[in-house]
Amino acid sequence: MMENVLKQYFGYSAFRPKQREIIQHLLDGKDALVLMPTGGGKSMCYQLPALMMNGVTVVVSPLLSLMKDQVESLQANGIAARAINSAVSETENMLVRRECAQGMIKLLYVSPERLLVELPFLQENVEISLFAIDEAHCISAWGHDFRPEYAQLGILRETFPNVPIVALTATADKVTRTDILEQLHIPNARMFVSSFDRPNLNLDVKRGMNTKERNQAILQFMLRHQHDCGIIYCMSRKTTESVAAYLRSHQFTTAVYHAGLTVEEREKAQNDFVCDRVQIVCATIAFGMGINKSNVRFVIHYNLPKSIENFYQEIGRAGRDGLRSDTLLFYNVSDIIQLNRFALDSGQREINMERLRRMQEYAESNVCRRRILLNYFGQPYLCECGHCDVCQHPPQRFDGTILIQKALSAIVRGNSELTLRMVVDVLCGSYSAEVRQKNLHAIKTFGVGRDVPRRDWNDYLLQMLQMGFVEIQYDRYNYLRITDAGLDVLYGRQTATLAIPQREEEPHPRRRKTAKELQRKLDLALPETDSAQIMDEALFGDLRDLRKRLAQEQNLPPYIVFSDNVLRTLSARKPCNLDEFGETPGIGDYKCKKYGAVFLEVIRKYR
Ligand code: ADP
Ligand code: ZN
Repeated sequence: MMENVLKQYFGYSAFRPKQREIIQHLLDGKDALVLMPTGGGKSMCYQLPALMMNGVTVVVSPLLSLMKDQVESLQANGIAARAINSAVSETENMLVRRECAQGMIKLLYVSPERLLVELPFLQENVEISLFAIDEAHCISAWGHDFRPEYAQLGILRETFPNVPIVALTATADKVTRTDILEQLHIPNARMFVSSFDRPNLNLDVKRGMNTKERNQAILQFMLRHQHDCGIIYCMSRKTTESVAAYLRSHQFTTAVYHAGLTVEEREKAQNDFVCDRVQIVCATIAFGMGINKSNVRFVIHYNLPKSIENFYQEIGRAGRDGLRSDTLLFYNVSDIIQLNRFALDSGQREINMERLRRMQEYAESNVCRRRILLNYFGQPYLCECGHCDVCQHPPQRFDGTILIQKALSAIVRGNSELTLRMVVDVLCGSYSAEVRQKNLHAIKTFGVGRDVPRRDWNDYLLQMLQMGFVEIQYDRYNYLRITDAGLDVLYGRQTATLAIPQREEEPHPRRRKTAKELQRKLDLALPETDSAQIMDEALFGDLRDLRKRLAQEQNLPPYIVFSDNVLRTLSARKPCNLDEFGETPGIGDYKCKKYGAVFLEVIRKYR
């Protein structure tokens, strides 16, 4: 029964883990808290019950763009969904209210502040089947997205004692979980925690790179993503601008997104990205919560995020369609210094420092990255994933005692008044302004590390920080200080190893890929189930064009018409008739009827 509805409306033949249990629980009229990673398929957990129950399911969502996206995708599947919010005219809101009262609507999306206004009306006139509180962590001051409007949702339970409530979030933090249940007055809600693993995301970390090296690494990375859309997260507005300009100068279409832009500018950037008119968005963390675009193929962190929660949510925006996607994290010591300052100045100093420490440990670790992430989210994961940088290029270590001693001795001779950069200057014998000003070229260690490239010294010093041989004096101009463990190495009482830094190849100038290379890339990107089928690249291109045209005609983002995954499957299977077309995962009855003929026509012509 449930499976039939899933197939009929969404075109999927099986539930993802936990979805079935959650849906059954809600159909039984009970409350639930659902924790799933971004892209895990949370919305299905209330959309399906909404279709199966009498009355209207009310979905509380914090952002207009999220609501718009969800309503559009539901309508695209022939489902009666509407939104009431400030972006909609009052006449239209009236109409929606009437349709609700007449039972013509299955899902109603509202913002939390709007819901409070509508409550008397809903209570009087509408049969409500279920309340779904999306992005439920916004209710908790512990969460990273606290929204005061959410705080009043506690009255739902009192007002509608018999309507089940489901809260959904991708934030796994234990404090936040408990807080959500308390604030919503649903202490007995059952908690469903699905696996946080997103096996289709590749994880890669590059440490100690300066701006130029990072930019080059991004160009190198983009060779694998010449036609793909992705997001680059940066710590500051200024960086978003400079990275975007750099990529533009290499013929990529880019947009920037940060809090310094006007609302209109931000909306334009977001729409251009969602509708595939812009390939790369360089953004601060302000970007993304409202983005449900399923074909984001990569997420790059130009700077270290401030917590693993933030990091995981941000990379989660890649590959919602389940196709393989790449993530890349850069970090260097200036990020650490900067983020430490933010954490120290923040209201919740201890918590934020601890969050940052865990993020740093992740970035510096030599253990399978997925293993760290999943253990962090409380999911024991004991194997190696095989598709993170540590698994793919296990770090090789060598006896680094002498190199470490050289660096430590530079710090001692500089009276512990050197920043990391100054230590590297001294070791490499660079006459920088700071070196001259502090007369550092006179000390004995000046230039003793000339045989090691600067870039490697940066890396070794980060490793020394991580191993606890030196620490940063945040309260003293970020000068480095030697720890007791460091002194043991300096005086030869201990030896220590270093990992060989991973080197980048020089990026090649941008050129169009040959058909063969593209084919290889696309084969790689195919999800497991379809990798046996050879996708037809030319047909895929034709179908993509058709999708874009249909999307434009309806003023919809292309991925709402069909996901990349659907187009890939179509171009591999080349269905001959409507029945075969409708068998494609992701094509429900409505879309089959609506689009079947035009797509079959293109496929037939292609043959
Ligand atoms: P979340 O809200 O958890 O970030 P979504 O609800 O947007 O994730 O779901 C992510 C993607 O997974 C969507 O494209 C959705 O259509 C798809 N999806 C959800 N459930 C299933 C399923 N049972 N089978 C296949 N795809 C699914
Ligand atoms: Zn791994």
